[in-house]
Amino acid sequence: TLILGIETSCDETAAAVVRRDSEGGAILSNVVFSQLEEHAAYGGVVPEIAARAHVEVLDGLIRQALDDAGLELRDLDAIAATSGPGLIGGLIVGLMTAKAIAATSSKPLYAINHLEGHALTARLTNGLDFPYLLLLVSGGHTQMVFVRGVGDYQRWGTTIDDALGEAFDKTAKLLGLAYPGGPAVEKAASAGDGRRFDLPTPLRGESRLDFSFSGLKTAVRQTAERNAPLDETDINDICASFQTAIVETLTERVGRALDRFHREIGAMGETPQLVVAGGVAANAAIRAALETLCGKHGFGFVAPPLHLCTDNAVMIAWAAAERMAAGLEADSLETAPRPRWPLDTLSATVIGHGK
Ligand code: ATP
Ligand code: MG
Ligand code: FE
Repeated sequence: TLILGIETSCDETAAAVVRRDSEGGAILSNVVFSQLEEHAAYGGVVPEIAARAHVEVLDGLIRQALDDAGLELRDLDAIAATSGPGLIGGLIVGLMTAKAIAATSSKPLYAINHLEGHALTARLTNGLDFPYLLLLVSGGHTQMVFVRGVGDYQRWGTTIDDALGEAFDKTAKLLGLAYPGGPAVEKAASAGDGRRFDLPTPLRGESRLDFSFSGLKTAVRQTAERNAPLDETDINDICASFQTAIVETLTERVGRALDRFHREIGAMGETPQLVVAGGVAANAAIRAALETLCGKHGFGFVAPPLHLCTDNAVMIAWAAAERMAAGLEADSLETAPRPRWPLDTLSATVIGHGK
């Protein structure tokens, strides 16, 4: 099966072609246009600018994805596009383009949940078997997901306020560091003292598996104010202390999820796996802490290559391939974009009454 994927839910415009056969999957092409520069001046993603940029580059990217794969439209078996969750303007651009291609070439359309794309990537890159745990940490999401099968996801925890990547971005902005904040904070932290400031680790000890980061952000602001004017050492130390608090929070919160997995699912004869996805997975301190945690809990730790952890269209094409292989039906050309679309409603809407 050959599938074209399109991703336009946030600030990356992307197109890719993926092949799936009995052996597994292969990436035939993968092009991503990051709008980072367009948004940098505003310190965050501006929806109108994003939508316009998607319109401008998407056709060219699709052409390039087909060229790179050495294919024509007629060679494809299906067209897949992200139809939610995300920014409505971008979703419209991607989904309408996919519908137009599907309609004119008489190919089935798959309207894919962006989070399902993140959730299934590890099956393409690492050949994982179900079930496994997913920690999704990006600019827009912070979720612990129990991945039971294609279209079958259980959200065990989510953030009750800011996403983790958002916390990095806001902390960077507060300290006058560059956008996007994650890499800037990590760099500053590597030169700082992570024990100088004692920052909070919200929800520690709570039995539910949610996350919270806005209190931490407030504590960073108060620390910055108390120590103003900040010199470079102060900034480095605040970043390092912030990262220490994040690592401690994740270790405690995710540790609880691993315990729950053991308790409820057991090992099923094989080593259980934790997959990390999303842009924050780029953070070396966080990755190292999660890897250590997994070792202690008898879990394998899977981190797909970074360019497949951040937003891309390979994961969208692959999710469609998985749905096809699982016998799930294609979507109607009437499908509307869904800016809000929780992952754990998927099985109910798709397997429930088909389309
Ligand atoms: P979505 O949430 O819809 O997937 P997104 O574009 O916000 O979209 P990603 O592109 O996956 O998410 O990741 C971007 C986020 O990752 C930003 O918040 C950025 O600050 C964060 N990030 C990137 N590198 C690092 C790093 N080294 N350390 C911490 N955070 C990082
Ligand atoms: Mg992004
Ligand atoms: Fe994403």
